[in-house]
Amino acid sequence: MARVYNFSAGPSTLPESVLAKAASEMLDYNGSGQSVMEMSHRSPVYDEIIRSCQSLLRQVMNIPDNYKVLFLQGGASSQFAMVPLNLMNKNHKADYMVTGQFSKKAKDEAERYGEVRVVASSKDKNFTYIPKITKADLDPNADYLHICFNNTIFGTKFPYIPETGDMPLVADLSSCILSEPIDISKFGLVYAGAQKNMAPAGLTVVIVREDLIGNQMDVTPTMFNYKVHADNDSMYNTPPCYSIYMCKLVLEWIQNEIGGLEKMKERNAAKAKVLYDFIDSSKLFQNNVNPEDRSMMNVTFVTGDADLDKKFCKEAAEAGFVNLKGHRSVGGMRASIYNAMPPEGIDKLVAFMAKFEADNA
Ligand code: PMP
Repeated sequence: MARVYNFSAGPSTLPESVLAKAASEMLDYNGSGQSVMEMSHRSPVYDEIIRSCQSLLRQVMNIPDNYKVLFLQGGASSQFAMVPLNLMNKNHKADYMVTGQFSKKAKDEAERYGEVRVVASSKDKNFTYIPKITKADLDPNADYLHICFNNTIFGTKFPYIPETGDMPLVADLSSCILSEPIDISKFGLVYAGAQKNMAPAGLTVVIVREDLIGNQMDVTPTMFNYKVHADNDSMYNTPPCYSIYMCKLVLEWIQNEIGGLEKMKERNAAKAKVLYDFIDSSKLFQNNVNPEDRSMMNVTFVTGDADLDKKFCKEAAEAGFVNLKGHRSVGGMRASIYNAMPPEGIDKLVAFMAKFEADNA
């Protein structure tokens, strides 16, 4: 059976070798006589899986020792509440940058728990750029600054890490985690839904500096308390066992087949360049994002004619390039080209786009 090139924004394509390995271990994981889906999360065989997933993530991302890695559920959306419940604890104030739909949702959720200020927003230009801020723009009494590092829907990415001094910087990395090296020591906390670059849906990863744990508001539900999960090594309750196992396989792929995050970045930058270069030279397709704020993971483009966009998506799907329709809130097209999209997927997409352009000139 032929596999399609899947440009879905998430859940998204996974490395084929990872899927093949998972398939080969499906009925009998490592001589245990069981699938990973079936085993107790408290069994020694599973314990080895979750531990090695964590230690691989620490190695691959170069996570400092004074950070905890938590394997949670509830998606990145649960972090929109968990972050303020645990971190808005001194002045009950927080600063947020609004650079798209998910950062707006995060801000709206935080407003339930304290005083929220929007430091900067790119809504004025339909979220096609990332505002520049400096430390002087921040409220010195804010308990943290929240940003969404890569904006999945609009195809933008922060080209810089905001300087916050002693104020913790919190970042939603859902759609760019593991795509390139990132200096975790610059952040107080980062989180990501795993379903783009890490694993199938179901797992949410939180990386949090130890001193930020344990100061949650009294109303914080037990399951929303970072301390509960940190104290129990992400085993307070049943973790998303199978997604964690898949995350381990993905990390092995990054380490052994790709060669780490520097190499991953080179590969991703080259892939994105092929697509952006084509779009920039095209007379039909265009990308509306400020060039220096373009995402390497989510590439948005339009023809300027909604009917032609629709025709493009339909014919692309028939040719084996699926899930290219832009988010319902922005229209047009979006190619999500996460880590697992092979370079030849982009080359073939570009060839298809060139043919479409010639046929529809
Ligand atoms: N943040 C970003 C940047 C996202 O792309 C998404 C999902 N597409 C979310 C948050 C929401 O994640 P979840 O569906 O895991 O709650």
